Amino acid sequence: MNIPLVDLKTQYQTLTAELIEAVQQVMVNANFILGQQVDDFEVDFALFCKGRQAVGLASGTDALHLGLRACGIGPGDEVITAANSFIATASAISFTGATPVFADVDPETYTIDPASIRELITDRTRAILPVHLYGQPADMDPIMEIAGEKELKVVEDACQAHGAQYKGKPVGSIGHLGAFSFYPGKNLGAFGDGGAAVTNDPQLADRLKMLRNYGQRQKYQHEFLGFNSRLDTLQAAILRVKLKHLAEWNSKRRAAASLYDQYLDGSKFRSPVIAPYSTHVFHLYVIRSQKRDELLNFLNQRGIGAGTHYPRAIPFQKAYQSLGYRPGQLPVAERACAEVLSLPLFPEITEEQIQTVCSTIQEF
Ligand SMILES: *Cc1c(COP(=O)(O)O)cnc(C)c1O
Repeated sequence: MNIPLVDLKTQYQTLTAELIEAVQQVMVNANFILGQQVDDFEVDFALFCKGRQAVGLASGTDALHLGLRACGIGPGDEVITAANSFIATASAISFTGATPVFADVDPETYTIDPASIRELITDRTRAILPVHLYGQPADMDPIMEIAGEKELKVVEDACQAHGAQYKGKPVGSIGHLGAFSFYPGKNLGAFGDGGAAVTNDPQLADRLKMLRNYGQRQKYQHEFLGFNSRLDTLQAAILRVKLKHLAEWNSKRRAAASLYDQYLDGSKFRSPVIAPYSTHVFHLYVIRSQKRDELLNFLNQRGIGAGTHYPRAIPFQKAYQSLGYRPGQLPVAERACAEVLSLPLFPEITEEQIQTVCSTIQEF
């Protein structure tokens, strides 16, 4: 039995008629750029995140990049972020001209360690960019407290955490701005690339709407140099259909995670820790093993789509070589990168599939 890491086909099968109808409407109206469905999706998504406004963008990377720009981040500034994330978390900072400064993470939750943030603050620090990694919120209260003290912006990387809650508050609307990705494999995925930024600050939303559309408010009146980074109307129409099911899909992910916990109980593999403050939405179910690479091969050879998120901390990527980080400088993140292993997880995964994954792990 082959068990993929992510299965994108089942969702389409269950929503086919509704999705085709939504896509057809866009094609009939031919309003492909910033059509009505984009506005409608922005309203729905802001409501889902309990934020005041959402702005549809071309990707999660752009939501971070343009979000930071909207917050006024630019050359000479420093932005503190987590060392263990997808590269886009850091490259978005670099695209503004600012420098990413990498903090170590909590050994249990893998999210940015607030104590580590404090040590890294300089007179150039302008923002903190916590990552809600694997679907679990970062510890936002101490982060917001530091930001308040030092007058820093907080941009949340919520690209893996649509619907996750921190002390009952949905992520993305806790900091100044939250960035979401609708890459197909995310908890809410489009049929291609897409993203959104959520904010309670109407001025930030206004600036983002200009940044995504060539710096114009009115056609051909360019107040500053913006980008072409709009969420496609087609993707917005698809996302509106799928958003209605997101809460249910997230509960199914949580249920699958707790089945994994059950079947792995007593094994030598460490299950994910759910922090007391968090409602985890399990974008990924990540265990740890000191023989990670061997276990990964073992599972892959047996048709189980395990993965590694992520095998190398961002400051140690070749692209960031020039920043001069030394091995051992971010010990918790570095060790996690050597040991983490993601198991197959998607809302439709069956108990039988989970059992098969776990019994194969036990054979290792
Ligand atoms: C997916 C992801 C991004 C980038 O999103 P895209 O839509 O692929 O540009 C950024 N940060 C994290 C943590 C992600 O998982």
